[in-house]
Amino acid sequence: MPTRFFNTYSRELEEFHPLDPAGKRVKLYTCGPTVYNFAHIGNFRAYVFEDLLQRHLEARGFDVERVMNLTDVDDKTIKGCRQLGVRLAEFTKKFKDAFFEDIGTLRIKRAKDFPAATDYVAQMIEMIRVLEKKGIAYQAEDKSLYFRLSKFPEYGKLAHLNLDELRPGVRVQSDEYEKENIGDFALWKAWDENDGDVKWDSPWGPGRPGWHIECSAMATALLGPEIDIHCGGVDNIFPHHEAEIAQSECVTGKKFVRYWMHCAHLMVEGQKMSKSAGNFYTLRDLLEKGWTGREIRYALITVNYRLPLNFTFDGLSAARSALQRIDEWTERLKLHAGLQIPISEYFSTTLAGMNPKEATSYLLSKYKVVSGSELRKDTDGILAYGERFFDALDDDLNISGALSHLFNLVRETNRALDAGTLTDGQAVIALHVRNQIDSILGLSPDIRNIPAAVLALVEQRQVARANKQWAESDRLRDAVAELGWVVKDTKEGPKLTPKD
Ligand code: AMP
Ligand code: ZN
Repeated sequence: MPTRFFNTYSRELEEFHPLDPAGKRVKLYTCGPTVYNFAHIGNFRAYVFEDLLQRHLEARGFDVERVMNLTDVDDKTIKGCRQLGVRLAEFTKKFKDAFFEDIGTLRIKRAKDFPAATDYVAQMIEMIRVLEKKGIAYQAEDKSLYFRLSKFPEYGKLAHLNLDELRPGVRVQSDEYEKENIGDFALWKAWDENDGDVKWDSPWGPGRPGWHIECSAMATALLGPEIDIHCGGVDNIFPHHEAEIAQSECVTGKKFVRYWMHCAHLMVEGQKMSKSAGNFYTLRDLLEKGWTGREIRYALITVNYRLPLNFTFDGLSAARSALQRIDEWTERLKLHAGLQIPISEYFSTTLAGMNPKEATSYLLSKYKVVSGSELRKDTDGILAYGERFFDALDDDLNISGALSHLFNLVRETNRALDAGTLTDGQAVIALHVRNQIDSILGLSPDIRNIPAAVLALVEQRQVARANKQWAESDRLRDAVAELGWVVKDTKEGPKLTPKD
């Protein structure tokens, strides 16, 4: 089955084919955070959805070239730094750093580039100059430059607006505005005293770029004039993405984006989670309450991206239970297959990037379970669960459908384990399917903050335990404690917690 995505532009499911004639390279642009505050988990719903998209495309063999921008100059960042009386770069650095830490916690794969808007002001000015030459941009009495909407009849097509009633001469200064207030939008905002020392020289005097031209310029500079997929939350459709299309297409004369994908909002009691509504949790708020990165990731990723996701603590508890179920199943399979997998492997995703053939031979050579032909015979049924998981994702990232195949596999193999009918080979291949699925879900336990020295000791201790060297195992437990960590043996394997 081909991969299909819902394209906001056409409002239809479309087969996905990248522009690359070799069909391999995918150019993906995703609107990133405005770094004036810690991102909230509504923002992270968007980034986790984009991560799911990237990981699935990679699982299907595409090379994804992803760019995610950082909006580090706009009305909000300027206001923030002025309130604190610090320089813009100093103000935004704190939130940039926090953002990178947070995407690590949520196992979001890093983009190829994270351009900051302030590094691309020259490219923005250049685009505006081209628009001015073409008579599309004009300088108004307030010295700011505006995009003349009447020059771009396609405006409104993405958001499916009927713009028969464009009111010529109406202008909007702010980056965000309601559909009723559509008018010529700002490309370049002339400096005024509210901007303090935030300003750049331009052919039109000192000022700063509008938010929309930032993304057009960074996308074009890093990915070229034609992009395969452009993502964001649904609130980005209008006016931000509509404006990006107008600016980019008027400059380059090319179709800017082929597939537009937008995720529905994370909601709290029927309202969009947002900073302005004050109904938000940052990732840090939830970590402080004892939830882990992988639990929050799971809760965000497992509702199909086009459906609103209602945020609740019950939802997080359900994520915790689902992950425990997967962990217990994984441990049962390992025990059954007689795999004394060392802790480093347990915590890693070595197998995740391999195709079934590679993984099978890797596991065979490493753990010498069964012979190849014997393995194939009784494992095709197990591998099929993995195939169905990825087929479901081909259908517009239908993650809930995909998960039902995973949990069917869990149930079937648990039943066979209970009945004593699961073969060693089946256990190994079920583990392999689990690891393939892990390449999408990011299931491995949270070990980001555990020092390597501690992990190494725990690994040695696992080997000692497997060899029933109990005194050595106790000694290693003490050595771990000396480094400030407590190791507890549980059904799902060793658990590490920092000593109080
Ligand atoms: P911002 O920092 O406001 O520019 O938003 C960054 C990204 O988060 C954009 O793609 C938004 O569409 C997205 N976003 C903001 N709030 C939510 C929400 N409650 N649910 C899902 N996505 C959101
Ligand atoms: Zn953007």
